[in-house]
Amino acid sequence: MSINAEFLRKILELECKKGYVDSAVIGGLDRFLHNWAGQAVESITTSPLLNRFNKLRLVNSNYASLTKEQRQEWINDVLNFLSEAEPGEDEKGKAKLTPIASRPSPRPRVNKAVVNQSIDSPITIIRGISSSLATKFNKLGVKTIRDLLYFFPHRHLDYSQSKPISQLAEGKEETIVANVWQAQEIRLGGRRSTEAIVGDETGNVRVVWFNNPYLAKKLATNTRLVISGRVSLFKGRHVFESPEWELAEDKELIHVGRLVPLYPLTQGLRPRQVRKLLKEVVDQWAWQVADFLPLGLKERQKLLELPQAISQAHFPEDEALKDRARVRLAFDELFLLQLGVLSKKRDWQEGQPGSPLSTKTPVLDAFLQSLPFELTAAQHRALKELLADLEKPRPMSRLLQGEVGSGKTVVATAALFMAAANGYQGAFMAPTEILAEQHFSTICQLLSRAGQLEVKEDYLHSYSGLSPHPLTVALLIGDITQVRKRELHQRILDGDIDIVIGTHALIQKGVEFHQLGLAVVDEQHRFGVTQRSALRQKGYNPHVLVMTATPIPRTLALTLYGDLDLSVIDQLPPGRQIIKTKWLKPGQRASAYAFIKRQVADSRQAFIICPLVEESETIQARAATAEYERLSQEVFPELRLGLLHGRMSATDKDKVMRRFRSGELDILVATPVVEVGIDVPNATVMMVESADRFGLSQLHQFRGRVGRGQEQSYCMLLAQNPSEVARERLDIIENVQDGFELAEEDLKLRGPGEFFGTRQSGLPDLRMAKLSDVALLELARSEAIRLFEKDKRLEKPEHSPLAKELARVWPEAGEWS
Ligand code: ADP
Ligand code: MG
Repeated sequence: MSINAEFLRKILELECKKGYVDSAVIGGLDRFLHNWAGQAVESITTSPLLNRFNKLRLVNSNYASLTKEQRQEWINDVLNFLSEAEPGEDEKGKAKLTPIASRPSPRPRVNKAVVNQSIDSPITIIRGISSSLATKFNKLGVKTIRDLLYFFPHRHLDYSQSKPISQLAEGKEETIVANVWQAQEIRLGGRRSTEAIVGDETGNVRVVWFNNPYLAKKLATNTRLVISGRVSLFKGRHVFESPEWELAEDKELIHVGRLVPLYPLTQGLRPRQVRKLLKEVVDQWAWQVADFLPLGLKERQKLLELPQAISQAHFPEDEALKDRARVRLAFDELFLLQLGVLSKKRDWQEGQPGSPLSTKTPVLDAFLQSLPFELTAAQHRALKELLADLEKPRPMSRLLQGEVGSGKTVVATAALFMAAANGYQGAFMAPTEILAEQHFSTICQLLSRAGQLEVKEDYLHSYSGLSPHPLTVALLIGDITQVRKRELHQRILDGDIDIVIGTHALIQKGVEFHQLGLAVVDEQHRFGVTQRSALRQKGYNPHVLVMTATPIPRTLALTLYGDLDLSVIDQLPPGRQIIKTKWLKPGQRASAYAFIKRQVADSRQAFIICPLVEESETIQARAATAEYERLSQEVFPELRLGLLHGRMSATDKDKVMRRFRSGELDILVATPVVEVGIDVPNATVMMVESADRFGLSQLHQFRGRVGRGQEQSYCMLLAQNPSEVARERLDIIENVQDGFELAEEDLKLRGPGEFFGTRQSGLPDLRMAKLSDVALLELARSEAIRLFEKDKRLEKPEHSPLAKELARVWPEAGEWS
């Protein structure tokens, strides 16, 4: 059915082996070649190759009349041609011409009227796609022909091996090639259906198609069919029930007898219809996709050509090519992603000059001296990396990663302090107001040890003795009165305030700075690329430090945040304990409550994280309120409980937090808002309801809320009815304390989509690439860096297709030549 070079090569080799007596194929080589060549010519795509092909005169070969030496020479020529026909496609030099239909058609059926069409034309220009069909595809995100080419099957069924009927095995997915003996309409379960008996040399088998009476008419006796599907047993005999089928004509099979693609479907799209359409579209259009990868790179990494990869991803010839197609397409995604982030970094650093800071000041030493503890080695290292950046004229863009409680705040404070000492302003942005308040009080505490509190107004403290001018810190949050807010804004604009602490809204809500030198952003995974460019658009080009306690595996961090340099605090301050973690069955809830009571009797405190009901904060708040009331009245009537959720006013949240921190409350019932950053050293119990609904990293964040003081701490995880995967997760968190290890596990168990919660803003979607594929990630990254080193703006002519592609997938990356 499909011609391939491999087959011809085998025959020619056999002919050599047999001594050139024209006995390799029945009927003689000439006749065979005539047929083979007639079809093979269609699959030759380049004209030099076609020239050579024609010179061999395979269609009108005259092998029979040659002498033995001539035969030998001629066969050598043909074999040489075969191995050159597709160099590099197979390292072992076994040439292979792909079957006609599965390679991009060499002669596109372009008619003159439609010459302006491109792969970016809407799919409606394709014959056979009506506007109603187009609407269905649009629902799947497919608008243009390119979208369709990149609309990949989610998997393939392996129907590539056909079997004699006598060898069919029940319960297996099998393929047969058989003749129809008879086909008729029958009623099955009251439905009009088709039944056929088909047979080959080894036996017969019954096939039924439920609900499809029309097929009976199509399947005339002696029609040759290829049938693929699961073999089941009915009354002791084999039967195919509603299998895929296709006429065994002399053309490439689509639905059976091969690796058959399964596409994600939507209402009203039929699998056969989609498959057939995609086959046509791939054959006609895939070859028109410009291969944007530089030649050298493709060769170095032995990547398939793009058109071939697209075609093989849909209709692969075999498993090996399917895999190579995936590798090529996944590489493209990761490579472009890398180039995108690298270009962002380049723009950030080259856009405007930054503010070089002098970090060799006695002020820094005084500050470090005043701390109530020694920095850990990891903190020292991170601080050093950071200070080195601050001294440079190009703005820093650094990600500081560190386990919960690893002490990132101190490091960030030292940097903010440096900015202030150099006469610049610093902004410290937290994901929530509670955390902003906490950072404010932490920083004030640290500064009060090193300097003297001079001024203490609402939301503003000023310290002397640290730098030539008094150092002023302000907190900007929602519940400040308008008058006071305006006043603070003005003082920030005047440069009167050195360090401003607030939420991410600081940047969005139009706070104007006098001279912003450093922006610290806590919890990077909630602070997107977009906000960073918002900074720039305001004309600031400050050093940027983003911090995250989400331990992202290094390779992944470099891929997603490759525009940031990475510092890791991979060490906890000394004396931190292992938090005893236990997964409890619902029956153990009573004993969990009893445990909390005993801890409180020992004057410790506890968190109870309420069931995660839904993403909506309102509903979460309501659930938390109900749970709070139940716990206060029924479970802990004699204890002091507080409630914390995202819908409370900042003042109320603050009140509750303060009371909990100061020990006026025993138990804090909270929604997952406490996930990040809250620091209460006396809290020793973290109880999480519906723990099976949270990911490992998030559970680890909860757990990090306790164990911050000297006392042994505990984490109790309640799970009603955990699924298999959730069970596995709970087992892991019971036994693993290390955040990075948990993150790796999380990534394996849940995949990157869920790992990051909602889709990262500004990232192109990855269809073929898996972020857990570390080797390919690293390859893409190293190739991107290599290319960037040679041609930072992709200005070289050989990189112009790449620049174009990059501009298409990352329009916001900008500034490409
Ligand atoms: P995170 O990295 O989670 O933001 P924090 O900065 O909030 O951690 O620090 C957690 C706690 O550890 C704080 O109470 C802080 O004062 C304390 N801490 C930070 N560094 C050290 C250190 N080197 N030795 C002892 N305690 C430290
Ligand atoms: Mg923190």
